[in-house]
Amino acid sequence: ISFNKKCREPEGIDGANGKVSKEMIKIKDLKKKYGNLEVLKGISTVIKEGEVISIIGPSGSGKSTFLRCINRLEEPTSGEIIINNKNILERGADINKIREEIGMVFQHFNLYPHKTVLENITLGPIRLKKISKPKAEQLAMELLEKVGLADKRDAYPNKLSGGQKQRVAIARALAMNPKIILFDEPTSALDPEMIGEVLEVMRELAHAGMTMIVVTHEMGFAKNVANRVFFMDGGYILEDAKPAELFENPKTERAKEFLDKVL
Ligand code: ADP
Ligand code: MG
Repeated sequence: ISFNKKCREPEGIDGANGKVSKEMIKIKDLKKKYGNLEVLKGISTVIKEGEVISIIGPSGSGKSTFLRCINRLEEPTSGEIIINNKNILERGADINKIREEIGMVFQHFNLYPHKTVLENITLGPIRLKKISKPKAEQLAMELLEKVGLADKRDAYPNKLSGGQKQRVAIARALAMNPKIILFDEPTSALDPEMIGEVLEVMRELAHAGMTMIVVTHEMGFAKNVANRVFFMDGGYILEDAKPAELFENPKTERAKEFLDKVL
């Protein structure tokens, strides 16, 4: 597999592919409460175009909530999320447009069970982007080839393995031509022998320059593919560092304890 490299002006050397640095996502003091439960307690960060961020941290620390706020699957309680200089939380922001630009891949795939693989991928481009059916199908087939599933175009999701379903889900996200893809534990529901094939697709995407935020328990991915790792705990980003730094030299006791358990 290989995805097309995006043509970008080399500006710095911070991206996963080694040559990008335009600020893409700016988050300021993001907070989210469910009723009285404060789940995000003030998150601020800047993510550059082409960066691959891995988010690690204990269960319940707010990782999924954080991702879901970034494409407004959840409404933040306060704070700012600015994507390409647009405040996506302001009144009147176009949520559909935001979700077109910010793809999401879920732990449980969330494919439409009554639609074929091809239909799963073409639905968004036809309905939301008003692309013609033949064009959408052509694009879908190109993406299916890239994830190694062209022969499954007419299959229904229940005939696919978990790894295949997740590769279809990634192709579906890509079909919308997103600027960012959020992954929420994309390999956690997979049998061990299928994890590699999904991580491989993600690694290719990273190398092609896609901006990605990946919540994962795959420490190998965090170490080898991400160029920054966030350690979240208790609704905060407690550490934000290069993978080698965070894994070899965690600064907080919390991160040390967590890494001792998972490594
Ligand atoms: P993580 O992904 O790190 O495991 P989550 O963001 O899923 O953490 O959850 C953080 C906290 O928010 C947990 O205590 C969880 O129970 C709570 N929570 C998540 N979603 C909801 C919701 N829709 N309603 C109420 N509480 C929620
Ligand atoms: Mg989660």
